[in-house]
Amino acid sequence: MLTPRLTKRTVRTPDGHLLWTGGLANGYPAAKHEGKTVYVKRLVWEEINGPVPEDAVVISTCGQRTCIEPFHLALTTSGRYASVRDALGRYAAEAQGGEEGR
Ligand SMILES: [Zn+2]
Repeated sequence: MLTPRLTKRTVRTPDGHLLWTGGLANGYPAAKHEGKTVYVKRLVWEEINGPVPEDAVVISTCGQRTCIEPFHLALTTSGRYASVRDALGRYAAEAQGGEEGR
């Protein structure tokens, strides 16, 4: 379970996302934690699965940048993160109908 401290700043969407309504850092959900700004996805992951390794980052696999639904989060290393992010970006572009061929 997530702490109320986190869940009170989220909204559950009908299609199952848990979108963060609090502050952002670099476009990603962020919160003050023990005096530091931390990424909320990392907090969520650590509350449920334990510590995140140094070289890993927590990402949303659902394509929603502000989604912190635990089931939509995945752990990946920084190197792979770039390609996952690119893939999600491409998917989002295609989902919007694309403007290729112009
Ligand atoms: Zn989601």
